[in-house]
Amino acid sequence: MRILVVEDERKVASFIKHGLEEERYIVEVASDGVSGFEMAMNNHFDAILLDVMLPGKDGFTLLKDLRDAGVTTPVLMLTARGTTEDRVTGLDLGADDYLPKPFSFDELAARLRSILRRSTPEKSTKIRCGDLKLDTVSHLAYRNDKEIELTTKEYALLEYLMRNKNRILSRSTITQHVWKHNFDPESNIIDVYIKRLRSKIEVEGKKPLIQSIRGVGYRMRETSSG
Ligand code: CA
Repeated sequence: MRILVVEDERKVASFIKHGLEEERYIVEVASDGVSGFEMAMNNHFDAILLDVMLPGKDGFTLLKDLRDAGVTTPVLMLTARGTTEDRVTGLDLGADDYLPKPFSFDELAARLRSILRRSTPEKSTKIRCGDLKLDTVSHLAYRNDKEIELTTKEYALLEYLMRNKNRILSRSTITQHVWKHNFDPESNIIDVYIKRLRSKIEVEGKKPLIQSIRGVGYRMRETSSG
């Protein structure tokens, strides 16, 4: 499980990081709102621990921007400001839970497990995009309950697109995450793979799930019609 901690107080951030690492989480820390937002947008995390008072971009704004961008990663807000108003603001903006400072590590870990449990059943084993389903344990894809045969790379590409659905992904972001290295910028390998993937997952007469964004890259789109 990968956790992003957005916290500007070094001591608090390292206390959380060390505690979570002992519990075998993979932890990355951002110490301001701007880099926290960038990290959350460009990487897959299973949960985000988000401080409210942050330099650059405060936690509420960061959360709102993430949700506006379609990022549904569970968020646990951390704040010294324990007023009801703040709690409501965070929850209204799409936070999953709220933990006032100071808190004990045990309580933090328990709240984190709780938001992960709520989001994990679907997130870690089944991802959906309309009637396209991905089983991340068996590595099988289904459209309208019909199995689709994919190669390892096609599967990895599809999982990445689906985990980031409704987000525009540049070709370089896709190569970094799916191929773990950069190709020659002139290379059209991504386009070749997208074309193959489309021929397997798209259904004639239905709105395409993979949308081309001219000059940028691609976006997996959740269509309301299914
Ligand atoms: Ca702070």
